[in-house]
Amino acid sequence: MSPATLAVTTGRPPREPDQPLNVPITLASTYVAGGDIDYGRYGNPTWSAFEDTLGALEGGRCLAFSTGMAAVTTVLDLVGQGAKVVLPKHAYQGSLMAVADLEARGRLVSRLVDITDTAAVVAECQDAALVWLESPTNPALEVADIETIAAAAHEAGAYVVVDNTFATPLLQQPIPLGADIVVHSATKYLAGHSDALIGALVTADDELLEVLKGRRGLAGATPGTMEAWLAVRGMRTLHLRVERAQANAQTLVTRLREHPAVAEVRYPGFGGIVAIVLAEGELAADLLVRKTRIWVHATSLGGVESTFERRRRWRTESPTIPVALVRMSVGIEDVEDLWSDLETALDTLTASPPR
Ligand SMILES: *Cc1c(COP(=O)(O)O)cnc(C)c1O
Repeated sequence: MSPATLAVTTGRPPREPDQPLNVPITLASTYVAGGDIDYGRYGNPTWSAFEDTLGALEGGRCLAFSTGMAAVTTVLDLVGQGAKVVLPKHAYQGSLMAVADLEARGRLVSRLVDITDTAAVVAECQDAALVWLESPTNPALEVADIETIAAAAHEAGAYVVVDNTFATPLLQQPIPLGADIVVHSATKYLAGHSDALIGALVTADDELLEVLKGRRGLAGATPGTMEAWLAVRGMRTLHLRVERAQANAQTLVTRLREHPAVAEVRYPGFGGIVAIVLAEGELAADLLVRKTRIWVHATSLGGVESTFERRRRWRTESPTIPVALVRMSVGIEDVEDLWSDLETALDTLTASPPR
């Protein structure tokens, strides 16, 4: 079945008379003994609908977590004492901070790499325990050669993890490319409506799945039932939203490249995230995000609504990200409305200053 059909049909109750079409929100801390779940921290039928759907889309088995960061730190916790972790220097800042925190406490050693330099990444894989990839990266939008790097990492005996939040399983499937674990902030495109925090891990390795499930229970990093339900609801339209956001992004990229207020446009060629660097610098970027009526000045991404922010407003963002870089999460509104709102704001940045 194609991804569009899987997104709509997976994770449904059995087709029997009077069964609902949609999975109900099961509010339960405990279950009658003798079954497979027993207690609310070990499982929930609403989580299962989310897990079955995302697992089918990624080509593996899925575990839902409370947030993307809960999924990230659960994987990092598997790394042995003092082992080496390779990760992109422009990975999601939360993932970089989690690794730096573990390194400061002597738990692991990290090597930050430019993931576009495949030969350098492959060389770093040699004595690594874990190779962490994010592609495209947040917010630099660099793309990794996942297949080549995964093959080299496996040869060196390292695990390969891919944060697939930006691409979604519709535009990139890391498991067939060689990833052992796929990480998602389902808060973003999967849930897709800026109303829920939820994360996920997907793996095709049943043994690894049991280990991760055990860790999730020990950390208590389990999602709320309402959040799991919202994410299932979101995934039913994932293909339509990603298709529209991508088409809008491609149109905007062409026009942004022509605008004199924009010095640089970064776009990997697919997906709904675009980064621009303002020609007039940091102040122009700060002005832009306050001058629009449709585009919302907000962090996060992957919702139906178009949002943007200057990433270096966060003191924790990498110093190698340009200060005037604005990350744009293109939504599913009408593209002409999006462009005219943006163009009006950009034009004010190039107009000559009042005397
Ligand atoms: C947002 C994000 C995360 C963290 O997810 P939360 O749900 O906010 O905890 C991890 N990776 C990427 C690429 C993200 O964009």
